[in-house]
Amino acid sequence: MSTSGWVHINGARKWHYVREDGRSLCGRWAYLGRVPPEKGNDDSPDNCPTCRKKLAALSHSGDTP
Ligand SMILES: [Zn+2]
Repeated sequence: MSTSGWVHINGARKWHYVREDGRSLCGRWAYLGRVPPEKGNDDSPDNCPTCRKKLAALSHSGDTP
């Protein structure tokens, strides 16, 4: 896995944003799947709220994951 983005993880109800190391921004999940994460749709109601908040904070600081 070499990209970051939104993924749907087995067992999770929401989509989570994973960084390049496979860890979700909320810290609850590790993504080991083979499907590439999706970019965009940052405001989808299906996204994990914690991941959304952390992603927003990161993009505000200019340090995109
Ligand atoms: Zn999350």
